[in-house]
Amino acid sequence: MTTMQDSDWDAIEFFKPEEFNQPNKMEYHFINRLDQFRKMIGKPIIIHSSYREGDPKSHGRGEAVDVHIKGISLLCAYVLASESGLFGGIGVYPNWNNPGLHLDMRPQKARWGSYSKASPTVQVPFDSEFIKCLDKLGVENGPC
Ligand SMILES: [Zn+2]
Repeated sequence: MTTMQDSDWDAIEFFKPEEFNQPNKMEYHFINRLDQFRKMIGKPIIIHSSYREGDPKSHGRGEAVDVHIKGISLLCAYVLASESGLFGGIGVYPNWNNPGLHLDMRPQKARWGSYSKASPTVQVPFDSEFIKCLDKLGVENGPC
């Protein structure tokens, strides 16, 4: 794993180190993918969580962020993230204060949704049933 060095941030077009809680513990390739995704979609990506000390999963390796994307629906954000091919793991979280996505760079493909605010969250398959529930939750689920 290669972590971001101070000088690496100069080459990142859309994100500043201040947007990450421990910027130099973020994985170099992951930040580059996130920057590429931001460029691709042309919408602001707001980072809510990034590196988490002691997390045995991707956040603890600096290979994940929790975000919301301004100006598009949650469903559209999911579709764009999934179709970009940049992220192995994508979680959809309609119950966050800012409904958003978990994005990570695990090598295998994983997709899930989560309805609950409880921790640990209850994860369910991200499928047509889940999408129907976005409506009931009042979360924007319009097309791109
Ligand atoms: Zn996450």
